[in-house]
Amino acid sequence: MPVATQAAIKGLTPQQVEALGVNLILNNTYHLNLRPGIEVLKEAGGAHKFQGLTVGPRVGEAMWRTVRWLDRCIEFHQSSGKDDVQNLFAIVQGGLDPDLRDQCLDEMIARKDKVAGYAIGGLSGGEEKEIFWRVIKQCADKLPEDRPRYSMGIGFAEDLLVCVALGVDMADCVFPTRTARFGVALTSNGPLNLRLSKHATDMSPIEAGCPCPTCASGTSRAILHHNITLETAAAHAITQHNLVFQARVMGGARDAIMNGTFPDYLKTFFAKFFGDAGYPEWCVNALRSVGVDLLEGRPDVKVNPGDYAKWEYSDAV
Ligand SMILES: [Zn+2]
Repeated sequence: MPVATQAAIKGLTPQQVEALGVNLILNNTYHLNLRPGIEVLKEAGGAHKFQGLTVGPRVGEAMWRTVRWLDRCIEFHQSSGKDDVQNLFAIVQGGLDPDLRDQCLDEMIARKDKVAGYAIGGLSGGEEKEIFWRVIKQCADKLPEDRPRYSMGIGFAEDLLVCVALGVDMADCVFPTRTARFGVALTSNGPLNLRLSKHATDMSPIEAGCPCPTCASGTSRAILHHNITLETAAAHAITQHNLVFQARVMGGARDAIMNGTFPDYLKTFFAKFFGDAGYPEWCVNALRSVGVDLLEGRPDVKVNPGDYAKWEYSDAV
């Protein structure tokens, strides 16, 4: 890769670089942050546009490939004789571009009678959370109400609940099982890093009242701390707990929606999960967009800007 530390290849214009057939260059975000600075880059619409480089046709090509792929899947699905035992979901793509998402939504919705549900793909790849929730909302607002919606790759509790509030029904993620193998148990008071020595003499379960086999059998934090790096059984025990935790978060949301108490469920969950650490600002903004104000009557709560998750700064690290 030719190096464009300061957003410019020395001695050549961007067009000359592209004309040479070079389609990969290296920028340095640290230097770009110093000069010209993030405000200028935002104003320009990103580093690529600032540099005068060609952007995003690849996302459009990929989106249309997804549509063609769906048509092939529908054709095979109908001719396979398995359409009564297997459900076909259309996956909405389009990256972070609202226009591409909209075009993709139109194409997918036009095939509604041939699919059992809709997935929202192309997210959870490190994009800004403020953009993430807006794409989810754009898709959820437009997708047919009589089809389940599945957001792909979502696993943090706050992400799950925001997605549900925006109109999503299902999600998948390796997070609860992967983090368990690293000794992190998920609880309604936030994540717990059982590798830390403060748990060495703690005889309480991961979470009191949790119905999972690990907590219900009285397995202590102390024994899990003792075993986590030695015995696969400890990772197994925490994995069981984490899967039950995720199911309880989503099951609680479902019950609250059925009972008409979902806004209260969200407020209670966030207050307990984040405690004094404060709420992620993007969650506050996303939930306000659907009429739930986490800060209502809570002037004491801190709001943290930027993209972070509780487990990143808590004792889970
Ligand atoms: Zn448990």
